[in-house]
Amino acid sequence: MSKERTIGGIPLNFLNKWFSWKEDDEQKRLEKWRERGACPACSGRGFNPMILNEFMYLGAYDDYKCFSCNGSGRWEDWEQADH
Ligand SMILES: [Zn+2]
Repeated sequence: MSKERTIGGIPLNFLNKWFSWKEDDEQKRLEKWRERGACPACSGRGFNPMILNEFMYLGAYDDYKCFSCNGSGRWEDWEQADH
């Protein structure tokens, strides 16, 4: 029996590989949004559709606008925001 470290029964080196792959994927995804000049968090729409769908909250626009770009949908604003 090998003494391979596991998390939840999954080998640790497998997890590391998976995470680095996800990171690569995330980099490519962000690059695409940068080319478009759109906020990756809201797809350039200026609001967060996840919040709208999950809570069906009908408040003021400010309550569900995208926090990452402050509702502008622009890459430049997303880049400057804390996230
Ligand atoms: Zn946004």
